[in-house]
Amino acid sequence: MAEKREKREIVFKGIGVSPGIAIQQVQILCPQIQHAVQRSITPEEIPLEIARFEEALIATHDQLMLIQKQMADVLGDEHASIFDAHMLVVDDRSFIEDVIRTVKKDLVNVEPILQAEATRYAEMLSKVDDSYLSERAVDIRDVTKRILANLAGESLNQVGQISEPCIVVAHDLSPSDTASIDRKLVHGFVTDLGSETSHTSIMAKALEVPAVVGLHNITTAVSSGDTVLIDGAKGRVFVNPTAERLAEYEKRAEEQKQILNELDTLRDKPPETLDGYLVPLSANIELLEELDGVVARGAKGIGLFRTEFLFLGSDTLPDEEEQAAAYERAAKSQYPSAVVIRTLDLGADKLPANFEKPDELNPFLGSRAIRLCLLRPELFKTQLRAILRASAYDNVQIMYPMVCCVQEVIEANALLRQCMDELREKGVSFNEDIQIGTMIEVPSAALIADIIAPHVSFFSIGTNDLIQYTMAVDRGNENVAHLYKPAHMAIVRLIDHVVKVSHEHGLWTCVCGQMASDPLFVPLLIGLGVDELSVSPSQTPMIKDVIRKLFYSGAMELARKALKAPSKEYVEQLCREMIEQVAPEVLELSE
Ligand code: PEP
Ligand code: MG
Repeated sequence: MAEKREKREIVFKGIGVSPGIAIQQVQILCPQIQHAVQRSITPEEIPLEIARFEEALIATHDQLMLIQKQMADVLGDEHASIFDAHMLVVDDRSFIEDVIRTVKKDLVNVEPILQAEATRYAEMLSKVDDSYLSERAVDIRDVTKRILANLAGESLNQVGQISEPCIVVAHDLSPSDTASIDRKLVHGFVTDLGSETSHTSIMAKALEVPAVVGLHNITTAVSSGDTVLIDGAKGRVFVNPTAERLAEYEKRAEEQKQILNELDTLRDKPPETLDGYLVPLSANIELLEELDGVVARGAKGIGLFRTEFLFLGSDTLPDEEEQAAAYERAAKSQYPSAVVIRTLDLGADKLPANFEKPDELNPFLGSRAIRLCLLRPELFKTQLRAILRASAYDNVQIMYPMVCCVQEVIEANALLRQCMDELREKGVSFNEDIQIGTMIEVPSAALIADIIAPHVSFFSIGTNDLIQYTMAVDRGNENVAHLYKPAHMAIVRLIDHVVKVSHEHGLWTCVCGQMASDPLFVPLLIGLGVDELSVSPSQTPMIKDVIRKLFYSGAMELARKALKAPSKEYVEQLCREMIEQVAPEVLELSE
């Protein structure tokens, strides 16, 4: 309806994924173009339209050249040659002339014609009984997406183009969009899609940008220029808040500030329970800029360095030297506390802009993390050598993500040994006894923890994925967010099993999934015998507060009850009662 909306307050409830209160004007981000929109043009506009098309082709050609060069540097010429086929498409004059002819004949913009022509070519090729030609269909689709993006050019309103202070409203944000947010300008964000442990939400926490996701239709309910208030802890969003609401939140923000100031005093105190049990508290980081915040918030060391974010933030793949420099910076900043560098967890929702996407129907079950690395040994080995170089600081440890069977660990270790040989030959120093760990985030790995144990020194439980893969609940899908429950008995039992097995084999177990950053579940994890918690830096003060107000004996009692509980609701209730009793103030900040 064209009628101007009254500035009435509208209240939304979504999933609060990054705490904090923010008030600002809305900036709506356009979704990525999926279907090209048709628009009529006049005969006079034809030359302009053709020029636009030619410019997009040149831009695409240049980008492909750059990617090809980067791929050749990192993966070798053989892999880079896959882009030859892409290049043939942008340089195919008969294809280009077909598009231009139709623009002139139909008098419509180039996008829908390009899309239709590309689909026609791709379908024709995919039917040919020749594997080389039918594979070219995939190249045509890929290149077309890139040309369409270049045609959209400046008209696409993207995160990187924000120039005014605002709260971003978007249908969805990719982890790399989120990584490129300018915190000085973006005071918060809200999205239709998303859930608590999606990588976008994890990034929001890392950046300490208040965020609420899973709002279903917020993009249709606001207009640019509206004012939005977000309460990232409680998951509430107020569009055009009333004066009373603003006053209420001003008071709330003041109270939260006071609690946080008090928690700040815990910074240099040990994460120790009232009965003297020490629970090492390390941090999860995605970006090097977070390093200073680790110690400042009272954590010691890095329990999880999500290195793939080094690759997501830039258009070029970092080489061995660049990676080694990043890892050394992390190692030096925390020395002598341990820095666990997780090897690339690329794939699924985390793919760099210029990375060739595997064509998969279920990417979260596809070539992700260690699987992708083992498929691309040169990419993997570049990273392994970089980590080894950094291990000259002997606090560096290495960790493999998304392991589902022992062979993956054996193969990864074999590649690591190859890298050691290569560095030794070059006279580069590294730690020969570097500790190797594996993430336990796939139920199969949890169940064969005893078989994996002899090949590693530690386990780190990634509850974000462990819950997703155990419960068959997409961790990023707000429609099934109600089923995504850390307190589910299956999760409690799997954690218990992994911890017991690790101790039987003389290993230690950390939990680095978001469950460890949620104060509600901290007593349970400690009671289950978890040896270390690795949490979002911003959550550290709250988690330390809980640990320091807890009796270890009480946590063990809670875990005993939870292991016998009849339902996830009962486990949740036990956890809530415990927090309400020991540290109710953290509930104001966290949910
Ligand atoms: C996890 O799955 O719990 C984890 C820590 O890894 P990520 O969130 O990066 O998938
Ligand atoms: Mg994971």
